[in-house]
Amino acid sequence: MTTETAPVNTETAPATETAPAAVEVHDVHKWYGTHRVLDGVSLTVRPGEVTVILGPSGSGKSTLLRVINHLEKPEIGHVSVNGELIGVRRHGERLRELSERTILTQRGRIGFVFQNFNLFPHLTVLDNVAAAPVATGKLTKSAAQALARELLGKVGLADKADAYPRQLSGGQQQRVAIARALALRPGVILFDEPTSALDPELVGEVLAVIRDLATSGTTLVIVTHEIGFAREIADRVVFIDAGKIVEQGPPGEVLDNPRHERTRDFLSKVL
Ligand code: ADP
Ligand code: MG
Repeated sequence: MTTETAPVNTETAPATETAPAAVEVHDVHKWYGTHRVLDGVSLTVRPGEVTVILGPSGSGKSTLLRVINHLEKPEIGHVSVNGELIGVRRHGERLRELSERTILTQRGRIGFVFQNFNLFPHLTVLDNVAAAPVATGKLTKSAAQALARELLGKVGLADKADAYPRQLSGGQQQRVAIARALALRPGVILFDEPTSALDPELVGEVLAVIRDLATSGTTLVIVTHEIGFAREIADRVVFIDAGKIVEQGPPGEVLDNPRHERTRDFLSKVL
């Protein structure tokens, strides 16, 4: 590489300003039939940032995560992940469809942790974690299993490698799901209410694993109603209502000093 083509000032500028956004959602509109579920949502997630999304039931939070992960296509707007566009559609234009292969590659850069764990019931814990890197051709089976053991250690489940999901508690299953998401070395992990299906006494162990990821610099987008947790780990809190971002900012602003009546009303119900 010649010095002429090197970018200027990259050594002094903070990495977060020069690196492409981990996730960029631009003016996304999504309808189900005549029901508008996302109404012009724009959101930028910087590498290493922890974004918590709050909002009432039915406000479009899950749909937003599904659009980011390309499980749903917006009618208008676009999403990019690590600077790469994963879908465009504007008024009156046809969607520039990406090949299934491109979508799968891009989805491999995004981890997704669901409310109900969604583990493969017929696979051991180890194989649940090792499956995706093998299926996508990223790792050999033995390398994937070695990685899976390391990741199970990280979520405190090294001794459960040979168990089946049904033999684990909900909190343990969700920790396996997090290890599984990490196995693809994703640029960002999306969490959709990761503790909502858990008995109260199991919530803490899952939040502890997510907290570890947050403090180690993993880029996270988390839909949760755990307001205390949001206050503790979020760099940014985004409040969504009726498919629109009503306000966003640091937790100290959005949670402790919300500007909008709808945010205050929501917080008064969940706090
Ligand atoms: P949230 O996660 O904030 O509770 P969702 O994104 O799941 O909200 O849903 C937003 C709205 O879209 C809800 O009114 C829901 O009923 C509707 N919806 C979600 N998925 C579908 C679908 N596949 N078909 C039709 N309507 C849907
Ligand atoms: Mg939801």
